[in-house]
Amino acid sequence: MSEHWEVYADWNPWHGCTKISPGCKFCYVYRQDEMYGSEIASSLCRKTANFNLPVKRRRDKSWKIESGKLVFTCFTSDFLLQDADEWRTDCWRMMKERSDLWFYFFTKRIDRFMQCVPDDWGMGYENVIVGCTVENQEMADYRLPIFRSLPIRHKAIIASPLLTAMDLTPWLDEAIEEVSVGGESGVDARPCDYNWVLSIREQCVAKDVPFRFHQTGARFVKDGRTYRVRRCHQLSQAHKANIDYKIGKYLVPETVKFEWKDTDYHD
Ligand code: SF4
Repeated sequence: MSEHWEVYADWNPWHGCTKISPGCKFCYVYRQDEMYGSEIASSLCRKTANFNLPVKRRRDKSWKIESGKLVFTCFTSDFLLQDADEWRTDCWRMMKERSDLWFYFFTKRIDRFMQCVPDDWGMGYENVIVGCTVENQEMADYRLPIFRSLPIRHKAIIASPLLTAMDLTPWLDEAIEEVSVGGESGVDARPCDYNWVLSIREQCVAKDVPFRFHQTGARFVKDGRTYRVRRCHQLSQAHKANIDYKIGKYLVPETVKFEWKDTDYHD
């Protein structure tokens, strides 16, 4: 799927979510709502004005989301949230209608997947990518066996926010198109140790599964030292680590070298 990552769009058909596991503790949605002074509780899921975005057209009748884009879907909630059950059928219909787009959603509720898919799902829609999120070994051990058993054409494992070291080896096979790893963001972020990241990378390389280090998080531990990484550097510093494996145009470095510039951080 990596060749499709040049162009992106966001589609958040609903907003708000309930916390379900340790990775939710400092949920981005709650933090954003607090920052913007939202008067509606973040746990209250509601449809957004953009619910129909994939099938909206401009005045000249062209699609608002242009053909070929990768659409990050439902990033202000969980696509499989029970509170949204009555709205999801319309979303599947839009995804099917826009077979010229890729839709990519992450979920911590993979155990609800089969009760959420439409009747014509079969082995999965060709244009839907599902990311199963795991944040610690307990969640990996629970969610990934379920994920492995599901009929989904494009699967990714999202190890984020990475809270502990994890062994993903039992679930890394040719069905997994990418493992994406990241630390936690936000002022209260829990630490992410670079050794945990490298360990998952090694597991992926051993099983020849593409690996991406997408962000350091706000408290990053390397060589026993904890760095506070500003939001604006969390993605770029992960990218600079240059440890992605089989991701798009980036080559796998022969030696993993990750040099820190203290000017980029504050302790
Ligand atoms: S599942 Fe995702 S969106 Fe929902 S509370 Fe947890 S982190 Fe937030």
